[in-house]
Amino acid sequence: MIIAATAALPALAQDPPEWSEPVKPFRIAGNVHYVGTKGLAAYLITTRDGAILLDATLAQNASQIERNIESLGVPLREVKLLLSDHAHADHVGAMAQLKRDTGARFLASEGDRWALENGRNQGDNNYGVMPFDPITVDEIIQDGQTVRLGEVELTAHLTPGHTRGCTSWSMTVDDHGTPRQVLFLCSITVAGNTLVDNKAYPGIAKDYRATFAKLAVMRADIVLTSHPEMSDVLERAARRDAGEADAFIEPTLLPALVKDFSAAFEKALKEQEAAKRR
Ligand code: ZN
Repeated sequence: MIIAATAALPALAQDPPEWSEPVKPFRIAGNVHYVGTKGLAAYLITTRDGAILLDATLAQNASQIERNIESLGVPLREVKLLLSDHAHADHVGAMAQLKRDTGARFLASEGDRWALENGRNQGDNNYGVMPFDPITVDEIIQDGQTVRLGEVELTAHLTPGHTRGCTSWSMTVDDHGTPRQVLFLCSITVAGNTLVDNKAYPGIAKDYRATFAKLAVMRADIVLTSHPEMSDVLERAARRDAGEADAFIEPTLLPALVKDFSAAFEKALKEQEAAKRR
């Protein structure tokens, strides 16, 4: 596991090149596929009644993501549901185009609705405004709500902090006859967010702590993140292709991520509080 600085780089003037670097789409487990770039994840879940796309990456990657979906034999019009983990340009930048080209419904949490429909991140931070094409939210999903398409059932877990509406999603996949719990984990990095006296998001620190507590009691066999290096998605795929059948299975990953990022959050909070007192 790499707690890479790249997971927290929104302050860069230019996006890291790997955020747009093509990757050949691949199956992760069961009906869950990777259709993202080298540095930004997009996940396609196929069902007998069409597909679900979770995250779309940067605006300039839209055609690349669309080609990736089609290369798996899924026509764009077969994508029926669009979901996101959180309303930041590096994950939903291409969503407006994906919505136009698929005609799919876009579901999101109330906490991220304003940001999604106004096309800009919400909450004070040190990286400024990162605009993106606004996306109309067709339906608001609640904490614990299940979303069904075909034989697939996804459960929404509101895990706010990184954004107000940060949403993690869980589902069970059939991994060669073994049921595995998959968690699409929303970002839990501080990533330049203002934690003290955040005027646009006053409850941010409290939300982060509640999210860490909530995730600490969840379990997942497979953790998939929107910044793929955070859960080593591409490395695991390479290991699996090299013969390690269970490369994606790691039940200790979620608690390890929660522990590390919770500690990083507490450290950042202390530093921001100290800076405030100076
Ligand atoms: Zn983000």
